[in-house]
Amino acid sequence: MSLPDGVQRRTFESEDVLSTEGQPVYGEPTADGWRKWDARRSKLGAMLETGMDTGLHGGETVLYLGAAAGTTVSHVADFAGPTYAVEFAARPARDLLDAAEPRGNLFPLLKDARKPETYAHVVEPVDVVIQDVATRGQAKVALANRQFLADDGRLLLAVKARSEDVAREPDEVFDEVLETLRDGYEVRETRSLEPFHEDHLGVVATPRDGASQ
Ligand code: SAM
Repeated sequence: MSLPDGVQRRTFESEDVLSTEGQPVYGEPTADGWRKWDARRSKLGAMLETGMDTGLHGGETVLYLGAAAGTTVSHVADFAGPTYAVEFAARPARDLLDAAEPRGNLFPLLKDARKPETYAHVVEPVDVVIQDVATRGQAKVALANRQFLADDGRLLLAVKARSEDVAREPDEVFDEVLETLRDGYEVRETRSLEPFHEDHLGVVATPRDGASQ
């Protein structure tokens, strides 16, 4: 598995784990300026740990949807370029502001990812959209934000089955989400994020030529 520049495997508490270099954010262990990036707390971390071909090299411009308190997006900002972090809940967004404080390339946006027109004037075209919104209509959120993605860019999406429908079989939910996603994206790879996250599917997709947005 190739890791982006700025992400290293290091040993923390006798465990070989991912890490990035930067200021700690959520009480994670650090050593020599490197922060443990626990895949059990991060869907993107799990996508890297399970060997998905994320296409991340480091230094990319990123739009991150569903930033919450900044756990994952702070690691992203440690290895990426300008990183726009969208979160609509005010409470976690306060912690997100703290995570952004020492990171000059992390820009929190207290916005609804279903309404990209409310932040389109701020966000430049990006190389990568990372999405972890854990809400109903996850494919629609990805379609609505496709407009920001460069033609050769990538969508790295974590789909939570239970957020779409708690009662249905996760595989059925995943099929339906992928079908909707194909309105605007070509799906390159999918993988279960277990054992790190139960009933989550990691998806790597690229924008589809001429698809409606
Ligand atoms: N990605 C985060 C991490 O790994 O650090 C965890 C994200 S949590 C699973 C999902 C987050 O998405 C929640 O904080 C929720 O408020 C946010 N969210 C859900 N729907 C959203 C929307 N339409 N716009 C913006 N944020 C949304």
